[in-house]
Amino acid sequence: MPSDTYSCTFCKILRGELPGSIIHEDDLVIVIVDLFPVNEGHLLVIPKVHAAEMSEVDSDTLAHIMRLAQKLNLALRRSSLACDGVNLLLADGEAAMQEIFHFHLHLIPRYYNDGFGFRYDRQRHFREMNRTRMDEIAAELKSKLVIV
Ligand SMILES: [Zn+2]
Repeated sequence: MPSDTYSCTFCKILRGELPGSIIHEDDLVIVIVDLFPVNEGHLLVIPKVHAAEMSEVDSDTLAHIMRLAQKLNLALRRSSLACDGVNLLLADGEAAMQEIFHFHLHLIPRYYNDGFGFRYDRQRHFREMNRTRMDEIAAELKSKLVIV
């Protein structure tokens, strides 16, 4: 998975080498309209510092991205796009559907019956868990969680 700033699509937009429909820019991020949207008005919040995955983005930038997402969500809802809801999607890693390896947060305007969604199999997903296994997972993750 390519992750260098030279070939990175978002770094090219940040350098002005590719066009971007920028709706917000500040010291930490830009917000652009997605070229291949789920629905019109699909936005991407992109940190200015190249980082492939979430673990590489500094925490102040992450906090800023979420504060900004709240305002962008409101702008989408107040716009003529008149969406019924908004999904925030963070695809972190190839297995999680990340395609451009420069961290970004999607804001996706949603409409009733727009046909978009996660596919799942009721036999495999959303099955009630065994409490013992849940407690094992909780204990392991508690031991791995680093909060400084
Ligand atoms: Zn980049």
